[in-house]
Amino acid sequence: MIMIIVFIINTNLIWISDGFTMNTNKRLSETGCMPHSLSFWLNNTLLWGSTPYEWLSPLFYMATSEKRVFWGYLILNGLLALIILRQRKEGVYRSITKLFGKKLWLHPSVKLDIKLVFLNQSLWLLLVAPLLTSQVAIALSSYRFLLQQLGPGDFVPSTVVGVSIFYSVSIFLIDDFTRFYVHRLYHRHPLLWRFHAVHHSATVLTPFTLYRLHIVEMLINSCRSLLVFGVCGGIFIYIVDGKVTPVEILGTSIFSFLFNIAGANLRHSHIWLGWGGVEKWILSPAQHQIHHSAHARHFNKNYGVMIAVWDRWFNSWVPSKNENVTQFGLNETTDDQTIRSHWLGIRQKESVNPRCSVPLH
Ligand SMILES: [Zn+2]
Ligand SMILES: [Zn+2]
Repeated sequence: MIMIIVFIINTNLIWISDGFTMNTNKRLSETGCMPHSLSFWLNNTLLWGSTPYEWLSPLFYMATSEKRVFWGYLILNGLLALIILRQRKEGVYRSITKLFGKKLWLHPSVKLDIKLVFLNQSLWLLLVAPLLTSQVAIALSSYRFLLQQLGPGDFVPSTVVGVSIFYSVSIFLIDDFTRFYVHRLYHRHPLLWRFHAVHHSATVLTPFTLYRLHIVEMLINSCRSLLVFGVCGGIFIYIVDGKVTPVEILGTSIFSFLFNIAGANLRHSHIWLGWGGVEKWILSPAQHQIHHSAHARHFNKNYGVMIAVWDRWFNSWVPSKNENVTQFGLNETTDDQTIRSHWLGIRQKESVNPRCSVPLH
């Protein structure tokens, strides 16, 4: 039972430094879903067991297969970007400088992304990490509550494979929808927008912009994931009581894996990749670039992570066809890229083209 809970936590990319995580990672690797070797060793031997050095863990993000910026995904996505540039008749030299040039990687916006990765990790260890144990507690409490109220579970008259698919699909949909909805809230409420604006203040996008978040946003995101995986994990453990082992619950990781190799890192990049008709169902990297556009007509569009249906339901869906983004950031004049100016979030005055759909007072 405990192993199932730990697996659920691990698939949610939350770090727990104990032996269970190590075992779970090993099982994932054994299935062939995730390249591991070095990352597995770094992840489990160097980092999580060495508390004094945990604030340095961002250095090893690229060696961690659970991270979107894992080196394997970066190489695959880089190749994809080169193919896209070549198809657009860009020369080889020009394509390479577009991806790896100094102008891009030494830009003040990118430097701030990197600084925030380390700052956030330190703040995370101080403020957010203590919450992580609560996820196990919530899952166990949900399970015990249902057990007390309804008696023994085991309600799913299905095979082990059926149960695994049922869990994987439901948790994937619930996770994706709640991410979408919380993201929408960030854009609709001035106080939340103030903190989310830090992510949008990037004027140059690289895969590391994913981690350019204010600590308040990190905290809110953690609470969301705590509830989703804690409560859903507890319910799932209850309804399938003893029917399935962690090895068989691989769905969430498989979804993330497919998403990552299909160009997830290009969402935060200047490489335009639209998916045509598929965008009605799955959001393309270009659609997230539209979300980051500094142009007013693109504000508050394409909130989703993977599934496009939520945006269509809430009228915020914009396909990439016939669109182009000329500038990323909050507005045409965004150029302040210092930690000090982002420390309390970013307050935009109405006069400078407010992005937040609710007027600021
Ligand atoms: Zn946003
Ligand atoms: Zn983004």
